[in-house]
Amino acid sequence: MKRYHWDIYAVLEAPQELYFGHEVEINVNRVETVTLEGPEGKVVKAYFSPTKRRGIERRTLLWAPHKDGKTLGEHLECGIPGTCARVEPEDGKPACPVCRVFGALRPGEKTVIGRLTHGGGVAIQTLEPQEKQRAMHPSDLVRSGKDQENPTPFRREYNQPGLYYPVYNHALSVSEEEFAAAAYAFLNVLPRVGAGNPKGARILSDEEFGPYLVLDRYLVPKGARPIISPHQTAIEPALVSFRQEARQVRGISFESGKAEGPHFTRWVGEDALAELERLAQAFADSYLV
Ligand SMILES: [Zn+2]
Repeated sequence: MKRYHWDIYAVLEAPQELYFGHEVEINVNRVETVTLEGPEGKVVKAYFSPTKRRGIERRTLLWAPHKDGKTLGEHLECGIPGTCARVEPEDGKPACPVCRVFGALRPGEKTVIGRLTHGGGVAIQTLEPQEKQRAMHPSDLVRSGKDQENPTPFRREYNQPGLYYPVYNHALSVSEEEFAAAAYAFLNVLPRVGAGNPKGARILSDEEFGPYLVLDRYLVPKGARPIISPHQTAIEPALVSFRQEARQVRGISFESGKAEGPHFTRWVGEDALAELERLAQAFADSYLV
């Protein structure tokens, strides 16, 4: 089982407003923001926190449909909390492809260190969240059990549509088979980001570059890493730097969307998407069907 390091670099675009639950102030559900101190003073930016993205990715794997009619989590007897922590088969139960990569904890018994970490998430633009009035969701009315005739309005903040979120996933020393779970999670999470409704983001794509996506597999890191500075607030320079860094690997030229050198392979744009899809399919073939 050959191990590698793997990195995913991407720019996500939210086609509609998104709510990432953060904290509730008096009657207002706030989203998470970050405040940066830049050359032009303080800047507030929307934030799609890596911690939340990691949580959604893990759930996406646990909720993946298994051929026996259960979800993969039910099939493996692995949940959140209640991670199974089976990195090897145990008591006649299979090893868990989720815990193996995301890590797990069986209190007092076993700790599995996660080897997949998440970064980025600070939006490029400085569009601050907007507050909107919402009526309480019918399921919340049932739960509250009273005032069913009069839905209680509440206010909720949303990250604005059209924000670009650079995001990065890093896997430390995992085999291709193990990384396949991370690839499946990364791709399947896209329609499901955001708390409640609406949901969803896509990988930003344009004609020149294709999808803003880079996949590295390596023992030795090479060249530039396409990471957009959180201080960058203008879209075009941010995307130019992403494109340049994506194509900048020392001593290796890109004939197509793939560059290969000693101990290093990079897929860019459409080729990166195709490689992630291939890995995601390998995960489904191994664990779902
Ligand atoms: Zn598990």
